[in-house]
Amino acid sequence: MSTVIDGKLTSAKVREQIREEVDKLKENGIKPSLTVIRVGEDPASKVYVRNKQKACAEVGIESELIHLPEETDEQELIRIVEECNQDPLTDGILVQLPLPAQIDEERVKSVIDPAKDVDGFHAVNMGRLITGEAGFVPCTPAGIIRLLDEYDIGIDGAHCVIVGRSQIVGKPLALLLLGRNATVTICHSRTRNLKEICKQADILISAAGQTGLITADHVKDQAVVIDVAMNRDENGKLCGDVKFDEVSKKAAAITPVPGGVGPMTVAMLLNNCLQSAKGRKAL
Ligand code: NDP
Repeated sequence: MSTVIDGKLTSAKVREQIREEVDKLKENGIKPSLTVIRVGEDPASKVYVRNKQKACAEVGIESELIHLPEETDEQELIRIVEECNQDPLTDGILVQLPLPAQIDEERVKSVIDPAKDVDGFHAVNMGRLITGEAGFVPCTPAGIIRLLDEYDIGIDGAHCVIVGRSQIVGKPLALLLLGRNATVTICHSRTRNLKEICKQADILISAAGQTGLITADHVKDQAVVIDVAMNRDENGKLCGDVKFDEVSKKAAAITPVPGGVGPMTVAMLLNNCLQSAKGRKAL
């Protein structure tokens, strides 16, 4: 039976460290703060935003929600983001995705001040990831690295196979792993021989959003398996890409869904807000 990598526990530990740092900043009159912009009534976004604000409150980061109607146009949203860019009291700006169809997400992401881009989605921060300069790192990939480190899983020289090439998970994660001297293979929906490639992985990370995609046959004996996905099964229950029951018999370590990568994403968002506050106040 494999080690179950506990994202909830690790996230609690990270959040406790953040809370202590936030307390110290506050003693010096600095109040880290996040502005969240949500457009429309997407029910999942509503839950995500509520959870992020709750997590902020728990560590003492102030958060403000700007909730705009579904019919908001791109220009209006950009105007509001630019106002937040100028607001000296705001350390982090998060525009919750997805946005309604009339708004170009890429355009909106590009307007956020890179120094307040706590999601790490701005092209400037993505570019910094490539050049190895300091910048905001997208929260889910950062959380995965933190989990691997917490469980002393060696990245240096390991063959990491990532299933998924999105801008928020697969691509930035590949760069982070490369920066830690892993050998990285990225798979996607057009990859041939997915099973054979996954089977070569020392660390297999699945972020495809396809329930049951990764079976025991995809996994080498004693590999580490990280399941990023947050899918819903036929009963509406949260589940991942990995068939946990069969894969956990073969893997050395595995993340569950829920309770694996998910809690780490929020913890890394809080960390980015803290780093922004510290950086902007030149501490
Ligand atoms: P996207 O839909 O943007 O990307 C999915 C990727 O998986 C694409 O690159 C796609 O390939 C690839 N893919 C899809 N089906 C297959 C397949 N059958 N075989 C191989 N590759 C496949 O999703 P996201 O990156 O936004 O999210 C991925 C999953 O992670 C989702 O379940 C999401 O809910 C979850 N997630 C979880 C987070 C967390 O905090 N735990 C945070 C963010 C996301 P192609 O590019 O060719 O289409």
